[in-house]
Amino acid sequence: MAPTQRSLTSRILESAAALTARTWPLAAQLLPERLEFDDTPSIWHAGTPDYQPRPPLRGVISADLAIIGGGFTGVSTAYHVTRRFPQRRIVLLEATSLANGASGRNGGLALNWINGVDTDDPELTRKIYTLTSAGLIAIRTLIERHRLPVDHRFDGTLTLHTSPERAEAAHAEAEYLQELGIPVRFLPPSDLRSQFDACGIYGATLEPGTGQINGAQFVRGLRPVLEECGVAIYEQTPVLRIQIGRIIRLTTPHGEVYAPAVVLATNGYTSKLGLFRDALFPLHSSVFATAPLTPEQQQNLGWRAFAGFADDCDRIAYGSLTCTGHLVFGGGSNQAYVYLFNNGTRLPPESAVARRSQAAIVRTLARYFPSATMLPIAYRWSGVLDITLNRQPLWGRWGEYRNVYYALGYSGHGITLANLAGEFIADLYGGDDSRWRWLPFYQSRYPPIPPEPFRWLGYQAFTRLTGRSPRV
Ligand SMILES: Cc1cc2nc3c(=O)[nH]c(=O)nc-3n(C[C@H](O)[C@H](O)[C@H](O)COP(=O)(O)OP(=O)(O)OC[C@H]3O[C@@H](n4cnc5c(N)ncnc54)[C@H](O)[C@@H]3O)c2cc1C
Repeated sequence: MAPTQRSLTSRILESAAALTARTWPLAAQLLPERLEFDDTPSIWHAGTPDYQPRPPLRGVISADLAIIGGGFTGVSTAYHVTRRFPQRRIVLLEATSLANGASGRNGGLALNWINGVDTDDPELTRKIYTLTSAGLIAIRTLIERHRLPVDHRFDGTLTLHTSPERAEAAHAEAEYLQELGIPVRFLPPSDLRSQFDACGIYGATLEPGTGQINGAQFVRGLRPVLEECGVAIYEQTPVLRIQIGRIIRLTTPHGEVYAPAVVLATNGYTSKLGLFRDALFPLHSSVFATAPLTPEQQQNLGWRAFAGFADDCDRIAYGSLTCTGHLVFGGGSNQAYVYLFNNGTRLPPESAVARRSQAAIVRTLARYFPSATMLPIAYRWSGVLDITLNRQPLWGRWGEYRNVYYALGYSGHGITLANLAGEFIADLYGGDDSRWRWLPFYQSRYPPIPPEPFRWLGYQAFTRLTGRSPRV
Protein backbone atom coordinates (compact mmCIF):
# COMPACT_ATOMS: atom_id res chain seq x y z
CA MET A 1 0.00 0.00 0.00
CA ALA A 2 1.34 3.49 -0.88
CA PRO A 3 2.35 5.65 2.12
CA THR A 4 -0.31 8.31 1.34
CA GLN A 5 -3.02 5.63 1.22
CA ARG A 6 -1.85 4.18 4.48
CA SER A 7 -1.95 7.50 6.27
CA LEU A 8 -5.45 8.17 4.89
CA THR A 9 -6.59 4.72 6.07
CA SER A 10 -5.10 5.18 9.51
CA ARG A 11 -6.65 8.68 9.72
CA ILE A 12 -10.07 7.18 8.90
CA LEU A 13 -9.52 4.43 11.46
CA GLU A 14 -8.46 6.93 14.11
CA SER A 15 -11.54 9.12 13.45
CA ALA A 16 -13.78 6.04 13.61
CA ALA A 17 -12.10 4.99 16.86
CA ALA A 18 -12.51 8.48 18.36
CA LEU A 19 -16.19 8.62 17.35
CA THR A 20 -16.72 5.10 18.66
CA ALA A 21 -15.03 5.93 21.97
CA ARG A 22 -17.28 9.01 22.42
CA THR A 23 -20.56 7.30 21.49
CA TRP A 24 -20.03 3.92 23.22
CA PRO A 25 -20.56 5.02 26.84
CA LEU A 26 -23.81 6.79 25.91
CA ALA A 27 -25.06 3.82 23.87
CA ALA A 28 -24.13 1.44 26.69
CA GLN A 29 -26.18 3.49 29.18
CA LEU A 30 -29.19 3.79 26.93
CA LEU A 31 -29.15 0.19 25.75
CA PRO A 32 -28.09 -2.22 28.50
CA GLU A 33 -27.34 -5.67 27.10
CA ARG A 34 -29.02 -8.86 28.27
CA LEU A 35 -27.07 -12.01 29.04
CA GLU A 36 -28.96 -14.74 27.16
CA PHE A 37 -27.97 -18.11 25.78
CA ASP A 38 -29.20 -20.51 23.11
CA ASP A 39 -30.67 -23.65 24.59
CA THR A 40 -31.76 -25.95 21.74
CA PRO A 41 -29.43 -28.94 21.85
CA SER A 42 -27.12 -29.62 18.92
CA ILE A 43 -26.16 -33.02 17.57
CA TRP A 44 -22.93 -32.65 19.54
CA HIS A 45 -24.86 -32.24 22.81
CA ALA A 46 -26.91 -35.31 21.93
CA GLY A 47 -23.63 -37.25 22.15
CA THR A 48 -23.45 -36.53 25.91
CA PRO A 49 -26.92 -37.75 27.02
CA ASP A 50 -26.01 -38.26 30.70
CA TYR A 51 -24.25 -34.96 31.23
CA GLN A 52 -25.43 -32.97 34.26
CA PRO A 53 -24.09 -29.48 34.95
CA ARG A 54 -22.36 -28.93 38.29
CA PRO A 55 -24.24 -26.83 40.89
CA PRO A 56 -23.85 -23.06 40.91
CA LEU A 57 -21.40 -21.18 43.07
CA ARG A 58 -22.87 -20.22 46.44
CA GLY A 59 -20.97 -17.94 48.80
CA VAL A 60 -17.74 -15.99 48.60
CA ILE A 61 -14.52 -17.65 47.50
CA SER A 62 -11.05 -16.60 46.45
CA ALA A 63 -8.79 -18.15 43.80
CA ASP A 64 -5.45 -17.55 42.13
CA LEU A 65 -7.03 -17.56 38.67
CA ALA A 66 -10.69 -17.29 37.69
CA ILE A 67 -11.74 -18.36 34.20
CA ILE A 68 -15.04 -17.06 32.83
CA GLY A 69 -16.52 -19.37 30.18
CA GLY A 70 -16.56 -23.13 29.73
CA GLY A 71 -15.96 -23.68 26.03
CA PHE A 72 -12.75 -24.79 24.30
CA THR A 73 -10.92 -21.61 25.39
CA GLY A 74 -11.88 -21.81 29.07
CA VAL A 75 -11.37 -25.54 29.45
CA SER A 76 -8.11 -25.55 27.53
CA THR A 77 -6.84 -22.67 29.71
CA ALA A 78 -7.79 -24.52 32.88
CA TYR A 79 -6.05 -27.66 31.57
CA HIS A 80 -2.74 -26.02 30.66
CA VAL A 81 -2.53 -23.67 33.66
CA THR A 82 -3.25 -26.43 36.17
CA ARG A 83 -0.66 -28.74 34.61
CA ARG A 84 1.92 -25.97 34.67
CA PHE A 85 1.02 -24.63 38.11
CA PRO A 86 -0.52 -27.52 40.05
CA GLN A 87 -0.57 -25.61 43.36
CA ARG A 88 -2.62 -22.69 42.08
CA ARG A 89 -6.32 -22.51 42.92
CA ILE A 90 -8.20 -22.30 39.63
CA VAL A 91 -11.92 -21.63 39.37
CA LEU A 92 -13.96 -21.97 36.18
CA LEU A 93 -17.34 -20.23 36.05
CA GLU A 94 -19.74 -21.24 33.29
CA ALA A 95 -23.09 -19.48 32.83
CA THR A 96 -25.06 -22.56 31.70
CA SER A 97 -23.23 -25.83 31.11
CA LEU A 98 -19.85 -26.62 29.63
CA ALA A 99 -19.91 -26.48 25.79
CA ASN A 100 -23.29 -24.79 25.61
CA GLY A 101 -21.68 -21.98 23.59
CA ALA A 102 -20.08 -22.19 20.15
CA SER A 103 -17.85 -25.10 21.22
CA GLY A 104 -20.90 -27.38 21.33
CA ARG A 105 -22.84 -25.71 18.51
CA ASN A 106 -20.41 -25.49 15.61
CA GLY A 107 -19.99 -27.22 12.27
CA GLY A 108 -17.40 -29.54 13.78
CA LEU A 109 -14.56 -28.79 11.35
CA ALA A 110 -11.17 -28.79 13.03
CA LEU A 111 -9.14 -26.78 10.53
CA ASN A 112 -5.75 -25.32 9.85
CA TRP A 113 -5.01 -21.63 9.47
CA ILE A 114 -6.17 -18.45 11.23
CA ASN A 115 -8.99 -16.32 9.89
CA GLY A 116 -8.15 -12.80 8.74
CA VAL A 117 -4.46 -13.43 7.99
CA ASP A 118 -3.39 -13.67 4.34
CA THR A 119 -0.70 -15.91 2.93
CA ASP A 120 1.46 -13.26 1.21
CA ASP A 121 4.32 -13.50 3.68
CA PRO A 122 5.95 -16.97 3.27
CA GLU A 123 7.58 -16.94 6.70
CA LEU A 124 4.34 -16.00 8.48
CA THR A 125 2.43 -18.55 6.40
CA ARG A 126 4.82 -21.33 7.37
CA LYS A 127 4.65 -20.35 11.04
CA ILE A 128 0.84 -20.28 11.09
CA TYR A 129 0.54 -23.69 9.45
CA THR A 130 3.09 -25.11 11.85
CA LEU A 131 1.17 -23.65 14.79
CA THR A 132 -2.30 -24.79 13.74
CA SER A 133 -1.03 -28.23 12.66
CA ALA A 134 0.46 -28.58 16.14
CA GLY A 135 -2.93 -27.48 17.52
CA LEU A 136 -4.69 -30.25 15.60
CA ILE A 137 -2.21 -32.83 16.85
CA ALA A 138 -2.63 -31.50 20.41
CA ILE A 139 -6.40 -32.11 20.23
CA ARG A 140 -5.83 -35.71 19.18
CA THR A 141 -3.13 -36.23 21.79
CA LEU A 142 -5.45 -35.01 24.53
CA ILE A 143 -8.19 -37.38 23.39
CA GLU A 144 -5.77 -40.30 23.43
CA ARG A 145 -3.93 -39.34 26.66
CA HIS A 146 -7.13 -39.12 28.69
CA ARG A 147 -9.11 -41.69 26.70
CA LEU A 148 -11.84 -39.11 26.16
CA PRO A 149 -15.05 -40.55 24.68
CA VAL A 150 -15.03 -38.15 21.72
CA ASP A 151 -16.26 -38.97 18.21
CA HIS A 152 -13.64 -37.63 15.85
CA ARG A 153 -12.12 -38.23 12.45
CA PHE A 154 -9.06 -36.60 10.95
CA ASP A 155 -9.19 -37.81 7.37
CA GLY A 156 -8.90 -34.33 5.85
CA THR A 157 -11.24 -31.54 4.76
CA LEU A 158 -11.87 -29.76 1.48
CA THR A 159 -12.27 -26.12 0.48
CA LEU A 160 -14.51 -26.06 -2.58
CA HIS A 161 -13.87 -23.49 -5.30
CA THR A 162 -16.98 -22.10 -6.90
CA SER A 163 -15.74 -20.34 -10.05
CA PRO A 164 -13.05 -21.11 -12.63
CA GLU A 165 -11.12 -17.97 -11.54
CA ARG A 166 -11.18 -18.91 -7.85
CA ALA A 167 -10.17 -22.47 -8.68
CA GLU A 168 -7.25 -21.23 -10.75
CA ALA A 169 -6.11 -18.93 -7.95
CA ALA A 170 -6.51 -21.77 -5.41
CA HIS A 171 -4.48 -24.10 -7.61
CA ALA A 172 -1.64 -21.55 -7.76
CA GLU A 173 -1.87 -21.03 -3.99
CA ALA A 174 -1.73 -24.78 -3.33
CA GLU A 175 1.49 -24.97 -5.38
CA TYR A 176 2.93 -22.00 -3.47
CA LEU A 177 2.05 -23.64 -0.14
CA GLN A 178 3.58 -26.95 -1.25
CA GLU A 179 6.82 -25.10 -2.02
CA LEU A 180 6.75 -23.89 1.59
CA GLY A 181 6.48 -27.52 2.71
CA ILE A 182 2.75 -27.34 3.56
CA PRO A 183 1.05 -30.57 2.46
CA VAL A 184 -2.13 -29.20 0.82
CA ARG A 185 -3.27 -30.62 -2.52
CA PHE A 186 -5.40 -29.13 -5.29
CA LEU A 187 -7.99 -31.57 -6.65
CA PRO A 188 -9.29 -30.90 -10.18
CA PRO A 189 -13.02 -31.27 -10.95
CA SER A 190 -12.40 -34.74 -12.43
CA ASP A 191 -11.38 -35.94 -8.95
CA LEU A 192 -14.61 -34.61 -7.44
CA ARG A 193 -17.06 -35.70 -10.10
CA SER A 194 -18.87 -38.38 -8.16
CA GLN A 195 -19.66 -36.02 -5.32
CA PHE A 196 -20.02 -32.43 -6.48
CA ASP A 197 -21.17 -32.99 -10.04
CA ALA A 198 -24.38 -31.03 -9.94
CA CYS A 199 -23.30 -27.85 -8.27
CA GLY A 200 -20.64 -25.96 -10.21
CA ILE A 201 -17.49 -26.87 -8.32
CA TYR A 202 -14.32 -26.12 -10.26
CA GLY A 203 -11.82 -27.76 -7.95
CA ALA A 204 -11.04 -28.21 -4.28
CA THR A 205 -8.12 -27.85 -1.91
CA LEU A 206 -7.55 -30.89 0.31
CA GLU A 207 -5.91 -30.39 3.70
CA PRO A 208 -4.73 -33.64 5.25
CA GLY A 209 -4.59 -33.81 9.05
CA THR A 210 -7.71 -31.70 9.49
CA GLY A 211 -11.06 -33.25 10.38
CA GLN A 212 -14.09 -33.19 12.59
CA ILE A 213 -14.64 -33.50 16.33
CA ASN A 214 -17.63 -33.55 18.64
CA GLY A 215 -16.84 -30.43 20.69
CA ALA A 216 -19.43 -31.13 23.40
CA GLN A 217 -17.98 -34.57 24.10
CA PHE A 218 -14.48 -33.09 24.10
CA VAL A 219 -15.13 -30.17 26.46
CA ARG A 220 -17.43 -32.13 28.78
CA GLY A 221 -15.10 -35.13 28.70
CA LEU A 222 -12.35 -32.93 30.13
CA ARG A 223 -14.39 -31.98 33.20
CA PRO A 224 -13.35 -35.01 35.32
CA VAL A 225 -9.75 -34.57 34.19
CA LEU A 226 -9.75 -30.96 35.39
CA GLU A 227 -11.54 -31.75 38.61
CA GLU A 228 -9.01 -34.44 39.39
CA CYS A 229 -6.31 -31.78 39.11
CA GLY A 230 -8.21 -29.61 41.60
CA VAL A 231 -9.93 -27.14 39.26
CA ALA A 232 -13.21 -25.98 40.83
CA ILE A 233 -15.92 -25.93 38.18
CA TYR A 234 -19.18 -24.08 38.77
CA GLU A 235 -21.81 -24.37 36.06
CA GLN A 236 -25.14 -22.51 36.00
CA THR A 237 -23.06 -19.58 37.25
CA PRO A 238 -23.21 -16.51 35.02
CA VAL A 239 -20.78 -13.75 35.93
CA LEU A 240 -22.94 -10.66 36.07
CA ARG A 241 -20.32 -8.08 36.91
CA ILE A 242 -16.56 -7.77 36.79
CA GLN A 243 -14.82 -5.14 38.90
CA ILE A 244 -11.26 -4.65 37.79
CA GLY A 245 -8.54 -3.96 40.36
CA ARG A 246 -5.37 -5.51 41.71
CA ILE A 247 -7.79 -8.10 43.08
CA ILE A 248 -10.66 -8.63 40.65
CA ARG A 249 -14.17 -9.15 41.98
CA LEU A 250 -16.64 -11.27 40.04
CA THR A 251 -20.30 -11.16 40.99
CA THR A 252 -22.60 -14.09 40.24
CA PRO A 253 -26.27 -14.57 41.25
CA HIS A 254 -25.47 -16.43 44.50
CA GLY A 255 -21.82 -15.70 45.16
CA GLU A 256 -18.61 -13.81 44.51
CA VAL A 257 -15.09 -14.69 43.45
CA TYR A 258 -11.99 -12.65 44.33
CA ALA A 259 -8.91 -13.36 42.22
CA PRO A 260 -5.72 -11.53 41.24
CA ALA A 261 -6.08 -12.72 37.62
CA VAL A 262 -9.03 -13.46 35.36
CA VAL A 263 -9.39 -15.07 31.92
CA LEU A 264 -12.08 -13.94 29.51
CA ALA A 265 -13.09 -17.07 27.59
CA THR A 266 -16.48 -15.65 26.76
CA ASN A 267 -16.43 -15.53 22.95
CA GLY A 268 -19.46 -13.67 21.46
CA TYR A 269 -20.91 -12.95 24.93
CA THR A 270 -17.99 -10.79 26.08
CA SER A 271 -19.80 -7.45 25.57
CA LYS A 272 -22.31 -8.46 28.27
CA LEU A 273 -19.53 -7.90 30.80
CA GLY A 274 -19.01 -4.41 29.37
CA LEU A 275 -15.66 -5.39 27.83
CA PHE A 276 -14.44 -5.33 24.22
CA ARG A 277 -17.78 -3.92 23.11
CA ASP A 278 -16.20 -2.04 20.22
CA ALA A 279 -14.13 -5.04 19.12
CA LEU A 280 -16.58 -7.90 18.68
CA PHE A 281 -20.07 -8.50 17.44
CA PRO A 282 -22.03 -11.71 17.92
CA LEU A 283 -23.31 -13.30 14.74
CA HIS A 284 -25.70 -16.26 14.76
CA SER A 285 -25.09 -19.14 12.41
CA SER A 286 -27.73 -21.83 11.88
CA VAL A 287 -26.93 -25.50 11.44
CA PHE A 288 -28.81 -28.79 11.11
CA ALA A 289 -27.97 -32.47 11.19
CA THR A 290 -29.83 -35.19 9.33
CA ALA A 291 -30.78 -38.54 10.78
CA PRO A 292 -27.91 -41.02 10.35
CA LEU A 293 -27.41 -42.04 6.74
CA THR A 294 -27.43 -45.69 5.81
CA PRO A 295 -24.34 -46.90 3.93
CA GLU A 296 -26.50 -46.88 0.79
CA GLN A 297 -27.58 -43.27 1.37
CA GLN A 298 -23.96 -42.29 1.91
CA GLN A 299 -23.08 -43.94 -1.35
CA ASN A 300 -25.92 -42.15 -3.18
CA LEU A 301 -24.61 -38.90 -1.79
CA GLY A 302 -21.21 -39.77 -3.20
CA TRP A 303 -19.53 -38.87 0.10
CA ARG A 304 -15.93 -39.98 -0.11
CA ALA A 305 -13.22 -40.42 2.46
CA PHE A 306 -12.95 -36.99 4.00
CA ALA A 307 -14.50 -35.43 7.09
CA GLY A 308 -16.09 -32.30 5.67
CA PHE A 309 -15.87 -29.23 3.49
CA ALA A 310 -16.41 -25.48 3.36
CA ASP A 311 -16.86 -23.45 0.19
CA ASP A 312 -15.00 -20.30 -0.81
CA CYS A 313 -18.05 -18.00 -0.87
CA ASP A 314 -18.50 -14.90 1.29
CA ARG A 315 -21.63 -16.54 2.67
CA ILE A 316 -19.63 -19.60 3.52
CA ALA A 317 -21.43 -22.98 3.48
CA TYR A 318 -19.97 -25.91 5.40
CA GLY A 319 -20.80 -29.58 5.80
CA SER A 320 -19.38 -32.62 7.50
CA LEU A 321 -20.22 -36.24 8.09
CA THR A 322 -20.08 -37.49 11.68
CA CYS A 323 -18.58 -40.81 12.72
CA THR A 324 -22.16 -41.97 13.32
CA GLY A 325 -23.24 -41.04 9.77
CA HIS A 326 -25.16 -37.79 10.37
CA LEU A 327 -24.73 -35.10 7.74
CA VAL A 328 -24.13 -31.72 9.44
CA PHE A 329 -24.71 -28.64 7.32
CA GLY A 330 -24.81 -24.86 7.82
CA GLY A 331 -24.26 -21.40 6.35
CA GLY A 332 -24.46 -20.57 2.67
CA SER A 333 -26.58 -17.40 2.49
CA ASN A 334 -27.27 -14.07 4.20
CA GLN A 335 -30.33 -15.56 5.90
CA ALA A 336 -28.17 -18.30 7.41
CA TYR A 337 -26.19 -15.65 9.34
CA VAL A 338 -28.12 -13.31 11.62
CA TYR A 339 -27.06 -10.26 13.62
CA LEU A 340 -29.60 -9.36 16.34
CA PHE A 341 -29.95 -5.73 17.45
CA ASN A 342 -27.88 -4.73 20.50
CA ASN A 343 -25.62 -7.79 20.40
CA GLY A 344 -28.42 -10.30 21.02
CA THR A 345 -26.95 -13.70 21.90
CA ARG A 346 -30.03 -15.89 21.77
CA LEU A 347 -31.89 -16.72 18.58
CA PRO A 348 -35.25 -18.21 19.65
CA PRO A 349 -35.72 -21.35 17.51
CA GLU A 350 -39.42 -20.61 16.97
CA SER A 351 -38.78 -17.05 15.70
CA ALA A 352 -39.43 -16.17 12.05
CA VAL A 353 -35.76 -15.22 11.63
CA ALA A 354 -34.59 -18.64 12.88
CA ARG A 355 -37.09 -20.43 10.65
CA ARG A 356 -35.99 -18.40 7.60
CA SER A 357 -32.42 -19.19 8.47
CA GLN A 358 -33.06 -22.95 8.65
CA ALA A 359 -35.05 -22.92 5.39
CA ALA A 360 -32.17 -21.11 3.69
CA ILE A 361 -29.61 -23.74 4.69
CA VAL A 362 -31.85 -26.51 3.38
CA ARG A 363 -31.94 -24.68 0.01
CA THR A 364 -28.14 -24.43 0.01
CA LEU A 365 -27.85 -28.13 0.83
CA ALA A 366 -30.02 -28.88 -2.21
CA ARG A 367 -27.44 -27.13 -4.38
CA TYR A 368 -24.63 -29.35 -3.10
CA PHE A 369 -26.47 -32.63 -2.51
CA PRO A 370 -29.85 -32.68 -4.29
CA SER A 371 -30.63 -36.16 -2.97
CA ALA A 372 -30.01 -35.12 0.66
CA THR A 373 -33.06 -32.86 0.82
CA MET A 374 -35.17 -36.03 1.15
CA LEU A 375 -33.36 -36.98 4.36
CA PRO A 376 -35.13 -36.37 7.66
CA ILE A 377 -33.60 -33.64 9.80
CA ALA A 378 -32.84 -34.81 13.32
CA TYR A 379 -31.39 -31.66 14.96
CA ARG A 380 -31.63 -27.93 14.23
CA TRP A 381 -29.73 -25.36 16.22
CA SER A 382 -27.85 -22.10 16.05
CA GLY A 383 -24.82 -20.71 17.81
CA VAL A 384 -22.98 -17.45 18.32
CA LEU A 385 -19.77 -16.60 16.49
CA ASP A 386 -17.64 -13.70 17.75
CA ILE A 387 -16.72 -11.60 14.74
CA THR A 388 -14.05 -8.89 14.55
CA LEU A 389 -14.01 -6.39 11.72
CA ASN A 390 -10.77 -7.73 10.26
CA ARG A 391 -11.66 -11.37 11.22
CA GLN A 392 -8.47 -11.71 13.24
CA PRO A 393 -8.70 -13.02 16.80
CA LEU A 394 -7.86 -10.89 19.85
CA TRP A 395 -5.29 -12.38 22.17
CA GLY A 396 -3.45 -10.70 25.01
CA ARG A 397 -3.72 -9.24 28.50
CA TRP A 398 -5.43 -6.06 29.48
CA GLY A 399 -6.21 -3.61 32.27
CA GLU A 400 -4.37 -1.26 34.61
CA TYR A 401 -2.88 -4.27 36.40
CA ARG A 402 -2.51 -6.34 33.23
CA ASN A 403 -4.35 -9.13 35.01
CA VAL A 404 -7.22 -9.72 32.56
CA TYR A 405 -6.17 -12.36 30.02
CA TYR A 406 -8.26 -12.79 26.89
CA ALA A 407 -8.54 -15.04 23.83
CA LEU A 408 -11.54 -14.00 21.74
CA GLY A 409 -12.72 -13.13 18.23
CA TYR A 410 -12.08 -16.37 16.34
CA SER A 411 -14.60 -15.25 13.71
CA GLY A 412 -16.02 -18.71 13.08
CA HIS A 413 -12.70 -20.51 12.76
CA GLY A 414 -11.93 -21.32 16.36
CA ILE A 415 -11.93 -25.05 17.04
CA THR A 416 -8.20 -25.47 16.60
CA LEU A 417 -7.23 -22.01 17.80
CA ALA A 418 -9.43 -21.93 20.92
CA ASN A 419 -7.75 -25.17 21.96
CA LEU A 420 -4.34 -23.55 21.45
CA ALA A 421 -5.49 -20.54 23.46
CA GLY A 422 -4.98 -22.49 26.69
CA GLU A 423 -1.28 -23.00 25.92
CA PHE A 424 -1.00 -19.31 25.03
CA ILE A 425 -2.63 -18.09 28.25
CA ALA A 426 -0.63 -20.55 30.38
CA ASP A 427 2.59 -19.13 28.87
CA LEU A 428 1.46 -15.56 29.38
CA TYR A 429 0.34 -16.27 32.92
CA GLY A 430 3.75 -17.85 33.56
CA GLY A 431 5.42 -14.67 32.27
CA ASP A 432 6.86 -15.99 28.99
CA ASP A 433 5.21 -14.83 25.76
CA SER A 434 8.19 -15.59 23.49
CA ARG A 435 6.39 -18.39 21.65
CA TRP A 436 3.54 -16.07 20.62
CA ARG A 437 4.99 -12.61 20.06
CA TRP A 438 5.03 -13.02 16.27
CA LEU A 439 1.27 -13.50 16.01
CA PRO A 440 -0.12 -10.48 14.14
CA PHE A 441 -3.09 -10.17 16.50
CA TYR A 442 -1.27 -10.60 19.80
CA GLN A 443 -1.79 -7.51 21.94
CA SER A 444 -2.59 -5.55 18.78
CA ARG A 445 -5.04 -2.74 18.04
CA TYR A 446 -8.26 -3.74 16.38
CA PRO A 447 -10.54 -1.84 14.01
CA PRO A 448 -13.42 -0.50 16.16
CA ILE A 449 -17.07 -1.33 15.49
CA PRO A 450 -19.53 1.50 16.19
CA PRO A 451 -22.27 1.16 18.82
CA GLU A 452 -25.98 0.78 18.17
CA PRO A 453 -27.90 1.82 16.22
CA PHE A 454 -25.02 2.30 13.73
CA ARG A 455 -23.84 -1.26 14.28
CA TRP A 456 -27.17 -2.82 13.32
CA LEU A 457 -27.73 -0.35 10.45
CA GLY A 458 -24.19 -0.94 9.17
CA TYR A 459 -24.66 -4.70 9.20
CA GLN A 460 -27.99 -4.47 7.37
CA ALA A 461 -26.64 -2.00 4.81
CA PHE A 462 -23.52 -4.06 4.18
CA THR A 463 -25.26 -7.40 3.79
CA ARG A 464 -28.25 -6.11 1.80
CA LEU A 465 -26.46 -3.68 -0.50
CA THR A 466 -23.50 -5.90 -1.28
CA GLY A 467 -25.42 -9.19 -1.04
CA ARG A 468 -22.56 -10.44 1.11
CA SER A 469 -22.13 -11.58 4.68
CA PRO A 470 -18.92 -11.20 6.62
CA ARG A 471 -16.94 -14.28 5.59
CA VAL A 472 -16.52 -16.33 8.76
C1 LIG B 1 -22.73 -22.41 14.14
C2 LIG B 1 -21.24 -22.37 14.31
C3 LIG B 1 -20.44 -23.09 13.44
C4 LIG B 1 -19.04 -23.07 13.62
N1 LIG B 1 -18.29 -23.90 12.85
C5 LIG B 1 -16.95 -23.97 13.07
C6 LIG B 1 -16.17 -24.91 12.36
O1 LIG B 1 -16.68 -25.75 11.60
N2 LIG B 1 -14.83 -24.88 12.56
C7 LIG B 1 -14.23 -24.00 13.44
O2 LIG B 1 -13.01 -24.00 13.57
N3 LIG B 1 -14.98 -23.15 14.16
C8 LIG B 1 -16.32 -23.13 14.02
N4 LIG B 1 -17.07 -22.29 14.79
C9 LIG B 1 -16.39 -21.42 15.77
C10 LIG B 1 -15.95 -22.17 17.02
O3 LIG B 1 -16.96 -23.04 17.46
C11 LIG B 1 -15.60 -21.15 18.11
O4 LIG B 1 -14.62 -20.26 17.61
C12 LIG B 1 -15.07 -21.79 19.39
O5 LIG B 1 -15.93 -22.78 19.84
C13 LIG B 1 -14.90 -20.71 20.45
O6 LIG B 1 -14.69 -21.34 21.70
P1 LIG B 1 -14.77 -20.47 23.02
O7 LIG B 1 -14.50 -21.36 24.16
O8 LIG B 1 -13.91 -19.27 22.87
O9 LIG B 1 -16.26 -19.92 23.05
P2 LIG B 1 -17.63 -20.66 23.47
O10 LIG B 1 -17.62 -22.08 23.13
O11 LIG B 1 -18.73 -19.82 22.94
O12 LIG B 1 -17.61 -20.57 25.04
C14 LIG B 1 -17.89 -19.38 25.74
C15 LIG B 1 -18.57 -19.82 27.02
O13 LIG B 1 -18.63 -18.70 27.90
C16 LIG B 1 -19.84 -18.79 28.62
N5 LIG B 1 -20.13 -17.44 29.12
C17 LIG B 1 -20.36 -16.35 28.38
N6 LIG B 1 -20.57 -15.28 29.17
C18 LIG B 1 -20.46 -15.73 30.44
C19 LIG B 1 -20.58 -15.10 31.70
N7 LIG B 1 -20.85 -13.79 31.82
N8 LIG B 1 -20.42 -15.85 32.82
C20 LIG B 1 -20.11 -17.16 32.73
N9 LIG B 1 -20.00 -17.81 31.54
C21 LIG B 1 -20.17 -17.10 30.42
C22 LIG B 1 -20.84 -19.29 27.59
O14 LIG B 1 -21.96 -19.87 28.21
C23 LIG B 1 -20.01 -20.29 26.82
O15 LIG B 1 -20.13 -21.61 27.31
C24 LIG B 1 -18.45 -22.29 14.65
C25 LIG B 1 -19.26 -21.57 15.53
C26 LIG B 1 -20.65 -21.62 15.38
C27 LIG B 1 -21.50 -20.86 16.36
